[in-house]
Amino acid sequence: MNNLIRCFCGSAISFQDCCQKYNDGIQKAPTALALMKSRYSAYATHNVDYLWNTTHVSQRKYYSKEEILHWAKANQWQKLEIISATENTVEFKAYFLDENMLNQVHHEFSTFKQENGSWFYVNGKFE
Ligand SMILES: [Zn+2]
Repeated sequence: MNNLIRCFCGSAISFQDCCQKYNDGIQKAPTALALMKSRYSAYATHNVDYLWNTTHVSQRKYYSKEEILHWAKANQWQKLEIISATENTVEFKAYFLDENMLNQVHHEFSTFKQENGSWFYVNGKFE
């Protein structure tokens, strides 16, 4: 038994061995799926800078760090479920409790882009 928390993204290993090295900028997420998972963990840990830096530069005008931080903190991130993934897309469901402690599911089909060896979140379709 160890005292390390299992990673927020739902992998069987600890946050330290999983998404934290990406969130801390020690390593680059090697795939779009790894990036997506690490972004979920960044929401769970309120790592706004990581979310901002991994949003493709062409899309940043649609966001603000304040909005990202508010959305990250307003909700309690419960679970990530990956539905499917290709080289540059990920379909997932993020389960969370909202500000009123109601169960919510964010179901998104996200698109990613690799540039200069780094993966970026481009955009997503959701209901
Ligand atoms: Zn992880």
